[in-house]
Amino acid sequence: MRFRVIVLIGLLFVGCTTTPVTNRTQFMMISPDQEMALGASEAQKVVKASKISTDKVLQERIKRIGQRIAAVSGRSDFAWEFTVIDDATPNAFCLPGGKVFFYTGILKITENEDQIATVMGHEIAHALARHGAERMSMQTVSNLGAQVLAAALNVPPEYQNLYAQAYGVTSQVGLILPYSRKFEHEADQIGVYLMWRAGYNPSQALKFWENMGRLSKDSKKTLPFLSTHPADDERIQEIRNYIAQLPSQR
Ligand SMILES: [Zn+2]
Repeated sequence: MRFRVIVLIGLLFVGCTTTPVTNRTQFMMISPDQEMALGASEAQKVVKASKISTDKVLQERIKRIGQRIAAVSGRSDFAWEFTVIDDATPNAFCLPGGKVFFYTGILKITENEDQIATVMGHEIAHALARHGAERMSMQTVSNLGAQVLAAALNVPPEYQNLYAQAYGVTSQVGLILPYSRKFEHEADQIGVYLMWRAGYNPSQALKFWENMGRLSKDSKKTLPFLSTHPADDERIQEIRNYIAQLPSQR
């Protein structure tokens, strides 16, 4: 029992990394290699389960915008890939390691290249800040906590293996679950910085989220991207602050 507690406390101190741009210390129990492997296998599943757009011009356009943002991300070690999926759902995401997917549905909402860059910057920011891995790490710790408790309560060993169990489950679904509000703001901040560095107009980020806000008020059913990315006044005000904080020179 005492040993497990020490291990748990030890992990809390050892597994810390820092996010880019925002410089937040984050708890991390997943190595970059593990994360890359997870992203790659998840990307294969996405490709298998989706209809890839046959629109070559559109694929090229998204690739060009993605590469322009990736070029200022400082992660030339990522296996960057940009794919458009033929799906009317407004959605986009970036898996760990730089596999980015855009649904045609979100491209119906974006009005220009700077707004596509807004979504691109935001999604890439989630991967740069390792939000998926951080969430899995937190999940693992809460399960380790449960394991410590299980040992203390003399739960039979066959039920104590929550760590492996939980890790298996979260590694399956943890990458595409919605992020917390904190992660959303952080991705906005990093995303605005990235689009600005890449030469896009950050004020279009405000326009995009204002449009999203209007859309969410108009639409009767909740759109998946809007439900995980609430476009409310708080978010828009925060983005305005991030734009104001950008350095005067690129
Ligand atoms: Zn997000």
